[in-house]
Amino acid sequence: MNSPRPNLTSKADPPAKSRQPRYQRPPLTLVFYPDPTLRKLCLPVEKFDSTLRDVAEEMTALMQFHSGIGLAAPQVGLEPQLLVCGIESQLITLANAEIQESGQMGEFVEGCLSLPEVRVKVTRPERIRVTGYDVHGQRKSFAATGLWARAIQHELDHLNGVLICDYGRPAESCAQCPLALPTVLVEERKHQSQHPRSH
Ligand SMILES: [Zn+2]
Repeated sequence: MNSPRPNLTSKADPPAKSRQPRYQRPPLTLVFYPDPTLRKLCLPVEKFDSTLRDVAEEMTALMQFHSGIGLAAPQVGLEPQLLVCGIESQLITLANAEIQESGQMGEFVEGCLSLPEVRVKVTRPERIRVTGYDVHGQRKSFAATGLWARAIQHELDHLNGVLICDYGRPAESCAQCPLALPTVLVEERKHQSQHPRSH
């Protein structure tokens, strides 16, 4: 998710990596619409190893470089259930996140780093309780409100292949869309984002 506020930081250079990756992998880059990875259903993270930590660190740097407040694995062409969020100086990384409870709904205009020109008014719960794992495999459970709740839900949608254009865009504008999905499938995926997975 991109920042709702203008960001005045310089975009001269991406942040230098603090250390060399442990194996050769091209640097992660943002994936834009209509890349088909944006519709993929991500798989649960099973290994909390150095590869996962490197990917999470690089995703965080990329999100910050692009002045975003959230980024999900499909937005860098990957398919683990991994998301990062950062608002002001606070950062979180969550693997296998699930929403356990949610409060009353509210509207907010969202943007997305993968859909640079698109702004959509999205109705979501304004308060959620989330569970997930950090990059070390430690289980986390916390409440999120406001922009945090918004960003986490937006990124969770990405892990189920749901995009902001799936909320409130006229059907005719999707007629030529290479990523169009049947409405019933989109609703099923939204439901998956919004509820605990059945294990
Ligand atoms: Zn997004």
